[in-house]
Amino acid sequence: MSRPARCRIDLAALRHNLRLARRLAPGARLAAVVKANAYGHGAVRIARALAGEVDAFAVACIEEALELRESGIARPIVLLEGVFSPDELALVERAALTPVVHSRAQLAWFLAARPRRPLDCWLKLDTGMHRLGLTPSEFIEAEVELRNCAHLGRLVAMSHLARADEPGEGEEATRGQIADFRAALSGLDLPISLANSAAILAWPEAHGDWVRPGLMLYGASPFAEPHPQAAELRPVMTLESTLVAVHRLPPGARVGYGGRFCCTRPTRLGVVAIGYADGYPRHAPDGTPLLVEGRLAPLAGRVSMDMLTVDLTDLPEVGPGARVELWGAGLDVGRVAAASGTIAYQLYCAVSRVAVEVQDDLIDQ
Ligand SMILES: *Cc1c(COP(=O)(O)O)cnc(C)c1O
Repeated sequence: MSRPARCRIDLAALRHNLRLARRLAPGARLAAVVKANAYGHGAVRIARALAGEVDAFAVACIEEALELRESGIARPIVLLEGVFSPDELALVERAALTPVVHSRAQLAWFLAARPRRPLDCWLKLDTGMHRLGLTPSEFIEAEVELRNCAHLGRLVAMSHLARADEPGEGEEATRGQIADFRAALSGLDLPISLANSAAILAWPEAHGDWVRPGLMLYGASPFAEPHPQAAELRPVMTLESTLVAVHRLPPGARVGYGGRFCCTRPTRLGVVAIGYADGYPRHAPDGTPLLVEGRLAPLAGRVSMDMLTVDLTDLPEVGPGARVELWGAGLDVGRVAAASGTIAYQLYCAVSRVAVEVQDDLIDQ
């Protein structure tokens, strides 16, 4: 018998979410973002499941791209941060990858390379996020230099939105970024890419020629508040474990490290075999929701490395062996993230070590 902590990956949900992205951005090509091990879902597994249905994949670095190539993924792969040194361009050529060029230094490396076949390139403009990208004047110059470069293959212009996930508050900033992007590119006949998940769901005017969904493919909403389009997403990952012990504790008893949780009534306390070493957030406060045999129950006490504790007083019938869902099909990962002061992205990426069970219901269309 192995440790009961496990992670179920629902590939039918993944395909459903991909179809939603396609339906929302029907004119655009789609690069599925599978960086960070596909947000903790397993990059090779996710890429194989999507390979027939996407136009490209996008990853953060060459190691991630090579892992996909070695597993037989033949689609174009965009390196979202480009190369970190000029010698990586030899690998880019050999593995037929598509680097982003976001700086003058990367542009110089690209132009100085002597590949035997053309290299595609996504040229990045900074429209106000101030993380990666060229200024508008640098971008115009770079486009001319690339156009005159004998080994340039296909060129795409890209930028990234900082606040597309903030309806209301972030709208002015997003509108400004979209306008600045279009202004900088006016007169250039380039395919464009601007939209992450939030923009696919909420900003049709940002869809352009290539969309780049990440989080939404995995079925989580990028928005803090309910959103009509995001409501159609289906969670791909369900993180679960089982109750391994149940105790009866008197009022005043304290639970776990630091004695953070103090029983205010006669309490049934459950111990679940999963903890922060598996990716459950250690900083989750008392009251963070868990789902025990399909019913909500609050976290009670500090999360340990391999265990956590839950107040079962209001669920008198559940006992050792009961199924506990940390997030997933029955409990929105966004609720757990909000309770823990973080985002679904971070919870997903932190999942490690647990056994993975893949569900692939091809009948479910
Ligand atoms: C990670 C990333 C995405 C995907 O963002 P989501 O919010 O997960 O959809 C898109 N574009 C770039 C440049 C990224 O780094």
